[in-house]
Amino acid sequence: MSSATIKANKATIDKMKAYYSDNLKKKAPQYSTFSAKVGSVTITAYTSGKVLFQGNGADEEASKWGSVAPSKTKVKPVNNLLDNFSSLSVIGSDETGTGSYLGPLTVAAAYVSKENIPLLKELGVRDSKNLTDFKIKELTKQLVTIIPYTLLTVWPDEYNDVQPTMSQGEMKAKLHNKALYDTIQKVGDSYDAILIDQFELPQTYFKHIKDSKVMVIDKVYFATKGESHHLSVAAASIIARHAFIEGLVQLSRKYKVTLPSGASKQSDIAATEILEKYGEDGLRQVAKLHFANTNKARKLFQKRQK
Ligand code: MN
Repeated sequence: MSSATIKANKATIDKMKAYYSDNLKKKAPQYSTFSAKVGSVTITAYTSGKVLFQGNGADEEASKWGSVAPSKTKVKPVNNLLDNFSSLSVIGSDETGTGSYLGPLTVAAAYVSKENIPLLKELGVRDSKNLTDFKIKELTKQLVTIIPYTLLTVWPDEYNDVQPTMSQGEMKAKLHNKALYDTIQKVGDSYDAILIDQFELPQTYFKHIKDSKVMVIDKVYFATKGESHHLSVAAASIIARHAFIEGLVQLSRKYKVTLPSGASKQSDIAATEILEKYGEDGLRQVAKLHFANTNKARKLFQKRQK
């Protein structure tokens, strides 16, 4: 029987337990945190930090967690980490556009090394919700020349293609995971931690990405109001926000209808104009169709036809 052993810190073991939550065995051996069986592989995590994979495919299953910190790496417990977290080198990620009926969904990951923290503070990088569109544009121009980042934009037509079979949560999780992975390719292992601006429970997040080609797991932390914990999340939110605003501007120009952000009456009216000019095909190019606004716009459109 093949077997593989890795060493993992408590945070990683907690993530593994969440990841294998559907496959947990009722009884775990003495001195173990959990035991799970996936296919023919039995996984047992011991309180010592040793994780044992046994059975056919053990190596492959263990390699999913292969980037797990080896024992020589100093391990910081999650609770302590948050104390000095804001001064570490961190890759942060955030998204924009999920609550807006019109326009794209954008996700960005940004790496802010501890050396760049003073400069970003000086520039005025902070929570994008408290910045004007103009300031966001100015900051983005500077940020993209200073820090490594990844920006992913999902235009409405693509969004509408996948949305019927994929929840917005799953879509966001996959995009965050990809943006983080692509950013790691740019910065190597120079970062201390990854901070995801939390949009769902960590265990849900890991379930959502478990079929992804590469799962970014090691050194991942979640926090709501992530931008208050590290400037990397603030930088990512600014870059994502800017791309979203630009996306709306681009679509507005292309379709010659001013498309507002949000999901209000104004959005319904703009969508109605799109229906009048371009029909349903036009609407799926500019709007996230599963929003309740779609039916409101359709009704408004029919009313205007009379
Ligand atoms: Mn967010």
